[in-house]
Amino acid sequence: MKAFDNLLSKAVHGDSRMRERGDVAPPIHVTTTRTHSKDPEHLHAHNSHDAPPDDDVYSREGHPNCKRVEATLSELLGGHCVAYSSGLSAYNALLLLKTPKRLFIGDGYFGIQAVARISQRSGLEIHPLEKIEELAENGDFVHVESLVNPTAIAPNIRSFAKRAHDKGAILVVDATFAPPPLQAPFELGADIIIHSASKYLGGHSDVLAGVLVTKSEKEAYALLEDRASIGTIIPPLTSWLLLRSLKTYPLRIKQQSANVNAIVKFLSDNQSKLSKLTNVYHSNLQSDQFVASQLPHGGSPTFSIEVTDEQTAKEVPSNLKLFYHVTSLGDVHSTIEWRAAIDENAKRNLLRLSIGIEDTDELIADLKQALE
Ligand SMILES: *Cc1c(COP(=O)(O)O)cnc(C)c1O
Repeated sequence: MKAFDNLLSKAVHGDSRMRERGDVAPPIHVTTTRTHSKDPEHLHAHNSHDAPPDDDVYSREGHPNCKRVEATLSELLGGHCVAYSSGLSAYNALLLLKTPKRLFIGDGYFGIQAVARISQRSGLEIHPLEKIEELAENGDFVHVESLVNPTAIAPNIRSFAKRAHDKGAILVVDATFAPPPLQAPFELGADIIIHSASKYLGGHSDVLAGVLVTKSEKEAYALLEDRASIGTIIPPLTSWLLLRSLKTYPLRIKQQSANVNAIVKFLSDNQSKLSKLTNVYHSNLQSDQFVASQLPHGGSPTFSIEVTDEQTAKEVPSNLKLFYHVTSLGDVHSTIEWRAAIDENAKRNLLRLSIGIEDTDELIADLKQALE
C-alpha cells in the first residue's frame, strides 16, 4: 500500500505549505465574508469556467480552515479530498453530482440507505448487490461498505470492482470502518471513497464531518462547485478540530488496530470459557483468501459480538469499566453499544464494540470480567 507510506509525516506536515506568517498552530477563521482586492488591477469579472470557487470571498464557498484540513486529508487518504459538514452530506453530494439511475447496495450503515431513499423520490432505483449483473448500466452506483457495519466482515472490493466495471458502473466504497493504512480501496478498484470523518479520523467524539476522496482533480472541482451551492461545507471550527485530530491520527489507528487484533484473538480463543459470549464477528476471523491482502494489518477496530440473550446484551455495557455505552465509533475511548437501541434491524443480542487507544491488557481484562 504505497499510497500510505510515511503516514506519520504526512499527518503532521500535510498543511505546512499553508502556514500563515510563521504560525505553528493555525488560527480559526470565523469570518463569513472577506474584502475584495483594493487594487483595481486585481479585480476580475467572475468566470465560473476558470476554476472551482476560490479566494474565500464567502465562507459557504471556501475558507482557510477547510483548505488546510483538505490538504492534510488528501495526503492521508491518497486522493483529492472534499470535506463536508457530515458523512451523510458527503454521500448526498455524491448522489447529486453523479445522479445515478440505479444504486446497488447491501448490508451496512442505515444512514446511507436513508440518504439514498431521499433520492428515490426523484427517481433513483435501489437494488440489492445480487442484481448487478442483471440490471446495472453505465453510470449506476455500486455501493460497498468496507468493512460492513456492524459485523466488520470484509466484502471483496476487487471482486465488486470487476462486477461494477463490467457494466460501466461506478464503485463507491464507504471506508469509514477501515481508514488508512488498514485498506487501500483505490488500489483494489474503487472509483470514489467516502469516509465519515466523525469516526476514526476525528477520533474524539467532537467532530461531525465527512469527506469524499476522488482520483481526479476535475471530479473534486465539480464537487467543490456543487458544495458552494448546496452549502454543506465543513465549518471553520470543525475543520480546525479535525486538522488537530489528524496530526495524531496515524498513532491512534496504530494502537486501535493493535488492540483490536489482540482482543478479537482473545475473545475467539476463549469463547468456550466466556459463558455469556456466543459469537464474535470480525474480518480477522474470516477464512476467505482475499482478506489477508485486502487488510494486511488486520481488520477494523470496530466489530460485533453476540451474547446469550437480549437481557445479557443490555447488562454487559454497564458491567464494563473502560467502555462507554454510546452510539458512534472511532473514539480514543473504547465504546460499546447495544445496537438494537438505534437500529431496528439489529439482532437483540448483538453488541457493537469500537476499540480505543487504552492499554491492551486492561481492555482484555475488562471484557473478560464482563463476559464470564
Ligand atoms: C457514521 C457513518 C456514516 C455517516 O457519517 P456522519 O458523519 O455521521 O454523517 C456513514 N457511513 C458509515 C459506515 C458510518 O459509520
